Amino acid sequence: MASIELVDAHLHIHRSREEGRRQFESGYVIWEYGEKPDVRFSEYDGGLEDALDAIEKAGFSTPVVTNLFSLPASVDANDDVRPADLLVEFNNWACELVRPYDQLVPFIAADPTAMPGEAGAKHVREMVEKHEARGIKLHPVVQRFEMTDPRMWPVYDACQELGIPILVHSGPARGGEPYAEPRCFADVLAAFPNLTIVLAHLGGATWDQALEIARAYPNACFDCCEIIEWTGAPNAPTDAQLARLIANIGPERVMMGSDFPWYDLDRQVERIMELPILSREQKEAMMGANAIRILGL
Ligand SMILES: [Zn+2]
Repeated sequence: MASIELVDAHLHIHRSREEGRRQFESGYVIWEYGEKPDVRFSEYDGGLEDALDAIEKAGFSTPVVTNLFSLPASVDANDDVRPADLLVEFNNWACELVRPYDQLVPFIAADPTAMPGEAGAKHVREMVEKHEARGIKLHPVVQRFEMTDPRMWPVYDACQELGIPILVHSGPARGGEPYAEPRCFADVLAAFPNLTIVLAHLGGATWDQALEIARAYPNACFDCCEIIEWTGAPNAPTDAQLARLIANIGPERVMMGSDFPWYDLDRQVERIMELPILSREQKEAMMGANAIRILGL
């Protein structure tokens, strides 16, 4: 494996180990796949030093840092805190964090409540042009908005114009809201044909919607993090179903990610190599070359 370049298309770095621990233990429960007793979570807490250590040990060249922004539930009621300031602070932090490390690629957040419409688009342009942001990360379930939210359209428009990709969590919401199931991406993919949208986790527990979207919209791409660790769980595909899905979508449109610090980087290489059906060349491309092409790294 030493000869190929390993790219992690989806990795998180927390502000501190403590924040990582907290999020892992209470803030973010992975419920959608059902029970699976032997899921292998990472031992890392996910601060910067943890991430750098994990990246080096696993021999990855280009991790894409896709940190998660969400407004605190109480923010609307608190006049002292402006939601827009929280988003700007978060994005500045995300870019500053990785600046000393050449190989780390910063993605920033957008949020329709914090910075709706043209204000959001202007901020994205500034972060790309002056702070070297290379893409956008969205989590519609945690951020509680629909992909088709009109407050987001100027942001999509700006991304398309700037030529930067958007990586979006995909999967069901607990209340059944249409936030991030693959079918919820259709209108945006159709309206912005030159915008690359990455559906993270291949649709998660709604993975059975992924192929239809892939076939209809060539600008839809995917990463296979998380779902690849949950294969065999009640609402997840088996290894064979996952490999078949990737083969049918076209392996060149699917990228390796870790979702570190939930899962380990070296584990992803192991899991992809374990998949049936796909050829060695296809798997190696998923581990690096696809991300370099799709994300313009
Ligand atoms: Zn993630």
